[in-house]
Amino acid sequence: MSMDSKGNPGKNTLLMSILRNISKQKQTRVLTIQFEKLATRFGVDESEVLTLFNQMKNDAYRQTFLSTPYRNRIILFPQCLRHPDCEAKSDKWGHHCVDCGRCGISRIKKLADGLGYAKVFIIRGGSIIVEIFEKFRPKAVIGIACDKEIFLGNLVTEKYDVVSQGVILTKEGCYNTEVNWKQVEKCIRSINPSTDKESTEKEADAQQ
Ligand code: SF4
Repeated sequence: MSMDSKGNPGKNTLLMSILRNISKQKQTRVLTIQFEKLATRFGVDESEVLTLFNQMKNDAYRQTFLSTPYRNRIILFPQCLRHPDCEAKSDKWGHHCVDCGRCGISRIKKLADGLGYAKVFIIRGGSIIVEIFEKFRPKAVIGIACDKEIFLGNLVTEKYDVVSQGVILTKEGCYNTEVNWKQVEKCIRSINPSTDKESTEKEADAQQ
């Protein structure tokens, strides 16, 4: 536990501990109000509370995620990560990358396909996630999004018992956004070596 100079728990440690308690609350509105109160009490920005909450969820799910074979995982990219001149085709599930190479999605999608991921989506918004979960029944999901969307997505994943890992955008804004692609790649590759033979063999192939 991190302490301040007087030996008391640091601000973030205290916040994490309170967030851990309120995270059992499933109602978005109630959670949001509690976040607002916490932000005021600790004199921090609400986005900082959201970031800590999302970090806490990542930590809580990490081991189960690492033990989930690639074939049971999906990836959700936000449409705003695409290049403005994206040539992807679209349908109800979102956009389908045609490998134009103008943004990083193409390379990551090829990596995920090679590893055996069940599906990679480029979604227009969070409302399609429920339909994706119901149709494709993933056991784990990697969501790339802003803090707010990851927070909302986490509520859906809990409802459907899907394990999640969120990668936060480094530049938000709904258009021409950015992410740390190395962090995305690391998350996609990450797996517990004892998970299953097929997944670890694919990881080894992808390293070559
Ligand atoms: S690489 Fe794919 S998602 Fe990115 S801009 Fe090109 S077609 Fe669109």
